Amino acid sequence: MKKYLFTPGPAPVPPEVLLEMSRPVIHHRTPEFSAILDSARERMRPLYGTKSEVILLASTGTGAMEAAVINLLQPGEHAIFVNGGKFGERWGKLLAAFGMIGHEVRVEWGRAARPEQIEDAFKAYPESRAVLVQASETSTCAIHPIAPIGEITRKHGAMLIVDGITSVGVFEQKMDEWSVDAFVTGSQKALMLPPGLGMVALSPRALEVAKANKTPRFYFDLMKELKAQRDEHTTAWTAAVSLILGLNKSLEMIHSEGLPNVYARHALMAEATRDAASALGLKLLSPDNPAPGVTGILIPEGLDGGKLVKFLRDNLGVSIQGGQDRMKGKLARIGHMGHLSPFDMLIAIGAFEIGLKQIGAKINLGAGVAAVQARIARSI
Ligand SMILES: *Cc1c(COP(=O)(O)O)cnc(C)c1O
Repeated sequence: MKKYLFTPGPAPVPPEVLLEMSRPVIHHRTPEFSAILDSARERMRPLYGTKSEVILLASTGTGAMEAAVINLLQPGEHAIFVNGGKFGERWGKLLAAFGMIGHEVRVEWGRAARPEQIEDAFKAYPESRAVLVQASETSTCAIHPIAPIGEITRKHGAMLIVDGITSVGVFEQKMDEWSVDAFVTGSQKALMLPPGLGMVALSPRALEVAKANKTPRFYFDLMKELKAQRDEHTTAWTAAVSLILGLNKSLEMIHSEGLPNVYARHALMAEATRDAASALGLKLLSPDNPAPGVTGILIPEGLDGGKLVKFLRDNLGVSIQGGQDRMKGKLARIGHMGHLSPFDMLIAIGAFEIGLKQIGAKINLGAGVAAVQARIARSI
């Protein structure tokens, strides 16, 4: 059976990238590898919207989140974190694991953090050294407003640490303009790669802070890693050579498509998916601030969304993802990141409709598909 991947990570990898990664492994202390590493790091910058340094790590996105925390904060220091879903919650767990004092800004699932909430948190905890937030909270398919949060954070002299794992490469990011100090992403979402690479971009201020930071760290010592990558054109430890070859290739493809076109393609896929939900009479978890990389559609009351996800996977070869935690069984998350075209949403929605029927939803088969088709036709 042909398989289709519409999960919000991992996302489909193009054949060009798969071929590149199947090249014989080269040594990581060679001029050949150095040129590829330099090129990949350089090509990441426009995706972040930064002139600053991008560091590649052999880890998943969570490793890059951890690296940001332990290089910029020290045990006993205070930090504000936005918890609007599973990944925001993860910031809190990371802070606690390393002895930092996290102050939670709670955001209802599906909502965006309001800048006033950050302002209030600074009023209550003026000693806070950083704000940690997701640009796109994948568990609720919602985005948070990074620009105004950055403004408030800068005003209070704190650092802004952003998880951009489902925003970098999906929609325009302006790291320097938004005053982001550490911007994290990972390979297996919009970057069209298998899992296994994490990236952190650091502002000049973050570099200063990291240099003086006393938190115990070894593998994720970003200063050691930066020295290797920037000054010696290699990685501190054995590089994830094949993934970095793949990254350089996928970034070449992204830049040859053109970033504005890449962002427009993701936006169109998201719009088409939302149109489909609405045509089927279904509601979104985050109608006011939907993420362009993944759409969260609420399963009609009383029906089992878990069964739908399993039916699609086992019977139709189509993978979407359900809800996590309190949304378990109540949410369908359709990912539209990476190597996908708007036409792929016809498949995702076509299968989704069949799954809905299967679990007993009263929908008009084809209504969602027609909405996707109409949106694509309007975009031409
Ligand atoms: C996927 C994802 C992560 C990272 O998860 P890993 O499994 O460690 O790669 C972190 N934050 C967000 C918002 C994500 O979507």
